[in-house]
Amino acid sequence: LGSEVHVDSETEIDEDKEDGLLGGLQIDSSADIQVPDRLVDQVIGQDHARDIILKAAKQRRHVMMIGSPGTGKSMLAKAMSQLLPKEELQDVLVYHNPDDGNEPKVRTVPAGKGEQIVEAHKEEARKRNQMRSFLMWIIIAVVFGYAILIAQALLLGIIAAGIIYLAFKYMSRGSDAMVPNLLVNNADQQVAPFEDATGAHAGALLGDVRHDPFQSGGMETPSHDRVEAGAIHKANKGVLFVDEINTLDIRSQQKLMTAIQEGEFAITGQSERSSGAMVQTEPVPTDFIMVAAGNLDAMENMHPALRSRIKGYGYEVYMDDTIEDSPEMRRKYARFVAQEVRNDGRLPPFTDEAIEEIILEARRRAGRKGHLTLEFRSLGGLVRVSGDIARAEDREFTTRDDVLRAKARSRSIEQQLADDYIERRKDYELTVSEGDVVGRVNGLAVMGEDSGIVLPVMAEVTPSQGLGQVIATGQLKEMAKEAVQNVSAIIKKFSDEDFSTEVPNWYEDRYGDTPYPDTSLAGKDIHIQFVQVGEGGVDGDSASITVATAVISALEDVPVRQDLAMTGSLSVRGDVLPVGGVTHKIEAAAKAGLKTVIIPKANEQDVMIEDEYKEQIEIVPVSHISEVLDVALAGEPEKDSLIDRLKSITGSALEKQQPD
Ligand code: ADP
Repeated sequence: LGSEVHVDSETEIDEDKEDGLLGGLQIDSSADIQVPDRLVDQVIGQDHARDIILKAAKQRRHVMMIGSPGTGKSMLAKAMSQLLPKEELQDVLVYHNPDDGNEPKVRTVPAGKGEQIVEAHKEEARKRNQMRSFLMWIIIAVVFGYAILIAQALLLGIIAAGIIYLAFKYMSRGSDAMVPNLLVNNADQQVAPFEDATGAHAGALLGDVRHDPFQSGGMETPSHDRVEAGAIHKANKGVLFVDEINTLDIRSQQKLMTAIQEGEFAITGQSERSSGAMVQTEPVPTDFIMVAAGNLDAMENMHPALRSRIKGYGYEVYMDDTIEDSPEMRRKYARFVAQEVRNDGRLPPFTDEAIEEIILEARRRAGRKGHLTLEFRSLGGLVRVSGDIARAEDREFTTRDDVLRAKARSRSIEQQLADDYIERRKDYELTVSEGDVVGRVNGLAVMGEDSGIVLPVMAEVTPSQGLGQVIATGQLKEMAKEAVQNVSAIIKKFSDEDFSTEVPNWYEDRYGDTPYPDTSLAGKDIHIQFVQVGEGGVDGDSASITVATAVISALEDVPVRQDLAMTGSLSVRGDVLPVGGVTHKIEAAAKAGLKTVIIPKANEQDVMIEDEYKEQIEIVPVSHISEVLDVALAGEPEKDSLIDRLKSITGSALEKQQPD
């Protein structure tokens, strides 16, 4: 498994160029790359999940796959169905039950036999019909003859037509009753069935019996003919795939569990007031392998018994989001591009440079050093949009330029929102991008998964009536408090000289024997405000250097550069720790017109900004809060003394990095 990448050209892989984006593949375009036919061979990465699928297919076990969308869950489930033996497939027939019309009988036969049986029954019914209609015509002829005789042709003619209609209706009903309903037909199935029941309503999942508006009087459709198979029945001997398993209603989950346990499940009408609800078939086989999928929440909201059923009789596997970047992997990504082009059928092949750009994007989207994203659905989307652009212009190849245009076009909702937001903020001048201001710092946050946003933090210090406290407003209250707690150790050490730590005279009245807290902030309240970001989760910790800088600026009355933004987490010792989403954050800062951005040194490798931003913004990697202040604070004399003090307090490992 995990097949090698093959190239048509003779040179195949150039070992000297393995470090290149194409991993040394010698190709002119994606058309030179062979795409494997078997689905299991097309899967990239997910080694663990793939092993499980192979094992589970052999042992007929259920599988639960948890992970991000578009990482190959349904692809693997489908691959699994291709690994199951085809010989075992069955057809299912539903017959009229002469003893009880509401309890149709069910028979299973080997695949392909079902059609033959239905044909034979139809043939018999046809013969019987011929006989009956012959008799019918004789009667009609006699009636007509008589009518003409007594010269009341018209009236009797109409009556006769009515008789003919009813007679035919009756006849056809009689014969339908004899012909069984081929509920599941596997005659043409080349591999074991794969049924995707994601988001299926009860009827589609569990089978249904259609409503019959004419429930009597010889006009009704016999009940066995109204029976419809559900996904659980169609998946018999194959794979039933249910993504977002938690969105299935609890009753359906319970019934699904019964089907798994019993290996068969009777079909009945799903809507209570329909005539179909009176009908219940004999049990229909449901011997499938269940592949349930979802994200982490799915597990919490899933019916516990169903989960334990899968766990007890199968495997659980977590899907990887990223994979380590290696020449071999990059070759596979190139093959992925070729595969998407082939699957779509209409896209012009990608040039080598266009493929490189896609691989670069896979790196960027991984958001992790030395990794490539495994979220292939969206990457495949980018391939298709790029190819569509080239196709719309009738070009022979899809070029790098098309990929770049596609990237601009296929922005996520969050990115569009963030851009819109940046624009609007510019209108109201909420993002200050020039000058120096005390207590105001441009922070950076991530919105959604792939867009950054500038998020100013403001701090103000006021005399306190009680113990000094941190008062945070805006949406990010909790995280602000946390950030301040993290930085308070530093702020404290640093402001020791300035603030009196003597016990204020009102303390005892108010707090009695409670020991006086060891905080240098007593007597001062720090107000911190985050300017609202509207909806969306903001990753909190990454603002802690921003909060620290704002607070220090406010405490010391030293202004902060406003053409600068920053992101980074802070340790109690003053080290700047890595955060997520730096690439998106830097791009947001550049879009907002800022000139400099401070990021943690440990994140330096994660920066994969697009070329257009490289000239617009200077990136300053830092590893200590003193460096942050060095870059961010304006006003030389105050600043220098402040930084010196900070360095002396928080230790010295940084002196090396600080040439001054
Ligand atoms: P999921 O079920 O996890 O949401 P899918 O299996 O439907 O994702 O994947 C969507 C598409 O993305 C697939 O049709 C396939 O083209 C591509 N894809 C996803 N994961 C992989 C993978 N690991 N290797 C190759 N292609 C993949």
